Amino acid sequence: MPATATTRAPQISSPAPTPAATPMMAQYWTLKEKAGDCLLFYRMGDFFELFFDDAKAAASTLDIALTSRGEYDGAPVAMCGVPVHAAESYLARLIRAGHRVAIAEQIETPAEAKARGGSKALVARAIVRFVTAGTLTEESLLEGRSANRLAALAEIGSEGDVAIAAADISTGRFEVVAVRRDAVDAELARLAPSELLVSEGAGDVPDWSVRQVVRRPASDFASGPGQKRLEAMFAVQTLDGFGNFTRGEMAAMGAIAAYLDHVATGQPIFLQPPVRHQSGDRMAIDAATRESLELVRTMTGARDGSLLGTIDRTVTAAGARLLADDLASPLTDKGAILDRLDLVDALARDALWRGELRAGLRALPDAGRALGRLVAGRGGPRDLAQLRDALGGARLLRERLARRADLPPLLARLLPGLDGHGALVDELSRALIETPPVDAAQGGYVAEGYDAALDALRETARDGRKAIAVLEAGYRDRTGIVSLKIRHNGVLGYHVEVPAKHADALMLPESGFTHRQTLAGVVRFNSSDLHEAASRVTQAGVHALAAEAAHLETLTEQATQRREAIAASCDVLARIDVAAALADHAMSHNWCRPDIADEPCLDVAGGRHPVVEAALARSGERFVPNDVSLSPDDRLWLVTGPNMGGKSTFLRQNALIVVLAQAGGFVPAASVKLGLVDRLFSRVGASDNLARGRSTFMVEMVETAAILAQATPQSFVILDEVGRGTSTYDGLALAWSVVEAVHEVNKCRCLFATHYHELTRLAETLDALSLHHVRAREWQGDLVLLHELADGPADRSYGLAVARLAGVPAGVVKRAEAVLAKLEAGREATGGLAAGLDDLPLFAATLAAAPAAAKDALREALAAIDPDALAPRDALEALYTLKRLMTDAP
Ligand code: ADP
Ligand code: MG
Repeated sequence: MPATATTRAPQISSPAPTPAATPMMAQYWTLKEKAGDCLLFYRMGDFFELFFDDAKAAASTLDIALTSRGEYDGAPVAMCGVPVHAAESYLARLIRAGHRVAIAEQIETPAEAKARGGSKALVARAIVRFVTAGTLTEESLLEGRSANRLAALAEIGSEGDVAIAAADISTGRFEVVAVRRDAVDAELARLAPSELLVSEGAGDVPDWSVRQVVRRPASDFASGPGQKRLEAMFAVQTLDGFGNFTRGEMAAMGAIAAYLDHVATGQPIFLQPPVRHQSGDRMAIDAATRESLELVRTMTGARDGSLLGTIDRTVTAAGARLLADDLASPLTDKGAILDRLDLVDALARDALWRGELRAGLRALPDAGRALGRLVAGRGGPRDLAQLRDALGGARLLRERLARRADLPPLLARLLPGLDGHGALVDELSRALIETPPVDAAQGGYVAEGYDAALDALRETARDGRKAIAVLEAGYRDRTGIVSLKIRHNGVLGYHVEVPAKHADALMLPESGFTHRQTLAGVVRFNSSDLHEAASRVTQAGVHALAAEAAHLETLTEQATQRREAIAASCDVLARIDVAAALADHAMSHNWCRPDIADEPCLDVAGGRHPVVEAALARSGERFVPNDVSLSPDDRLWLVTGPNMGGKSTFLRQNALIVVLAQAGGFVPAASVKLGLVDRLFSRVGASDNLARGRSTFMVEMVETAAILAQATPQSFVILDEVGRGTSTYDGLALAWSVVEAVHEVNKCRCLFATHYHELTRLAETLDALSLHHVRAREWQGDLVLLHELADGPADRSYGLAVARLAGVPAGVVKRAEAVLAKLEAGREATGGLAAGLDDLPLFAATLAAAPAAAKDALREALAAIDPDALAPRDALEALYTLKRLMTDAP
C-alpha cells in the first residue's frame, strides 16, 4: 500500500439487538458491542463467521461468498465465513484493506457447555484479541524489513504540550517525543505509523503520512491515569528512571498502553522502557520533503526506487529496519555522527573483515521479532530456536570482534551488549532439536537427552509401536490374509483393516476380532491385544506431549525474563549490520567519507544522485558528477537551464548527500564538507508534483510558507521551480520574493532551480546569491544536454530544441520559431516580462514597512521578562499580559 494513501475502516453499522433475539444472537450482539467498529470474527466450530454488515464488508474485501443464516428482525441475516486454519491470510487481507478485527473464540467445549447449562446450552464465547494494523506480531502478517508502528498523538491543554509516542510491539521498541504543533506532521511522517491513535475530541490530524487513524476515548489520553498504567506495565514505582516526562508525553504513552491493553484483552504485551527523544536530536524533515526526496519510499509508495531501496545492502531484517530508521531521521549531534562514520570507515577499509562479519550476520534469524511473539504468548518452538541461533551467533561474533586491537569506539561500546546470554543459549541448545516446528501441537521439538523422563515416554511409545508391528505380522500369519494392515486414524485410533473380501473370517466370534466399521472396500476391526498395545502408545504420547509443553513454557519464561537484554543485543547486531552494509555499498560505488565542519557550508566535489545513477547504469549510461560550494557569503545558488537538463537531479542529489552524511554514512561524491543541517526542506513546483491530488498551487504555497517560517541559518533548502503552478506573472513575482526572503530573512543554504530566466537579475542585489546553469549545446540542429553544471546564467532556454528532441513535428516547431522571433522582438522593445523591475524597492524596505510595528509591544514585553527571576504566579500574570498584547495587535 502506498505510504501516502490513507485507508479508513469503513463504517460498520448494524441493527441494535432486540429483545426477541435468539440466545445465539443475544450473545453475538453482546460481543459485537464490545468489538465496536472492528469486524467480529465469531468462532463456530472450524469457522470464523461474520454476520450483518461485517459479513458484507468482509465478503467484498475478501471476494468470498456472502450467504445468509436464519432471519433477524424480519430480514435474512447476511453471513460469510473463513476456515480457522486459513484465518491468518484472510486477516492479512482485511487488515491491509484498513479493517480491524475482533476475534471471538469459544472459551469452553460443547461438552463443558452441556455440563454447565443442559443440552441446549450455548457455548460461551469471548473476544480474545483484536487484530489491528499497528499491533501485529504474526510473522506472516508483518513485512520483515520494515518497522510496524502504533503511534499516539496527545495534546494537553490548548497550548502546545503536544507529544507523540510510538511502539513497535513486534520488537518492543517504544519511543516518545515532545513536539511543537507545527512539527507534528514531520514527526508523523518520520514514524509512518500503521495506526495512529487520537483522542475522540481532538481536531483533524494530518492523515497522509498515516495509514489508519483510530479515535479512542479521551480518558485514555489523561496523563494521570496514563502514568499509573505505565507504572503498572513496567512494574515500577515511578517512571523517573526512564526520563523526566512532560504531561503530554505521559498522555501519549498512556494512550498506547491503554490501547494495547484493549487489543490484547489481558495477554502480555512486549514493550521496552520508553526511549525519550528530544525534538532537536534529529534533522527536522517534514512530510512534503520526505515525499519529494523519496528517502524510504517513492511517491507511489514503493521501497524500490527510493534512496533506501537503492542503497540497502543489509543482510538481516532488523538491519533493514534500522537503516530505514536512520535514513528517516538523520542525526544533528556531531559526536554521534562521527561515531557512526568511524565505524563505517573502519569497515570500509577492511573488506575481509567486513565480508566475514556480514556472512556471520546473514546466518542469524530475526530474533527481535521472535522475542516479540514469545512475550506476547504467541511464540512457539521455532521462535525459541531463532533466539538460540541468533544469540549463539552473537556470542561468536563478539568473541571474534573482541580479538581485534583497533575497534572503532562505537563498536567497542556496543560489544558488551552482545554478552550475557550464555546460560540461555546453552539451555536452549540442549533442549531443542536443530529445526523445531513453528507449532508446538505435534510435539517432537525437545531434543533427546534433555529430559530422561521424556526420553522414557518416547521409548515406551516406540516399544509400543514396535509391539504393534509385531502384532500385525502375527495377525497376518494367523489369518493368512497377506493384505491385513494395522492402521491409525483420529476416530478409531489403532485398528485392523482387511479388504472386504477377506472380512468374513474376522467376523466370526471366535476370531478374537471385534467389528468396528465397514467401508466400501475395507472392513475394520479391533482386538484386545491391539487395544492394550495401542493405549500404551497413546498414553505415552499424551504424556510426552504434556512434558514437552511444560518445557516449552519454562524455556519461554526463561527467554522472556531476559527480554530487555535480548532486545538490546538485537539492536547491536542491527547497528553492525547497517554500518557494514553502508560500508559495502560505499566501497562498490566509490563513495567517500564526508567531513563534518563547524560553519554552515556545503562543499561537494563530484556529487552524484544515487538513484538516478543506478537507473542510468542499468541502461548503460554514465552519470555526470557535479560540484556545489555553498558558504555564508555564497549561500544561495540560482540554477537555470533547459528542461531535462538535470536541475532537479542536481538539487536532490545534494539533499540526499546531506541526509546520508548525517545518518552517519558515506556519500556519493569525491569529497564532501558539510556544516550540520538542522532542518531540511525540499519543495517541488506544483506541476511536477501531481501525485498528491490537492489543489496543487495551494499546496506549493502552503509548503513554501512553512519554509519561510521555519528555515534557520543552519537549514538547507532546495526549491525546484517554485511558482510554476500559477500564471507566468504571479509565478515570477512569487518566485522572486521567495528568493529574496530566503536570502534576506532565513539566510539558509539554498539551491533554487527555476525556468524564470528573469530571476537571474536578483544577482545584482543579493550578495550571497550566485548564478549557475546546466549546460546544453546545439549541435547540427540537435540539442545535446550535457547535465553539467556551470557558472553564470543560461544563455537561452532551448525550449524549442527540447520540443524537437521530444518529437514535436517539424512544422509545429518551425511555426513556434516564428512566434518566438516576434515575442523576442517585442521583448527588446518593451523590456519583457521583468520590465520595470529595475526600480523595485529593496526587499528589506518592504519588510520594514510590513505590519511589524504592532507586534513590537509584544516583543518589548517579552524581552523584559527574565524567566529565572519570575515566581510562578508572576509568570502566569506575565503570560496573560502577553496574550492580551497579542490580541490587541491588529
Ligand atoms: P530538469 O529538472 O532540468 O528538467 P532533471 O533533473 O529532471 O532535469 O533530469 C532529467 C533527466 O536527465 C534525468 O531523468 C536523467 O536521466 C538525466 N540526468 C539528470 N542529471 C544527470 C547527470 N548529472 N548525469 C547524467 N544524466 C542526468
Ligand atoms: Mg526539474
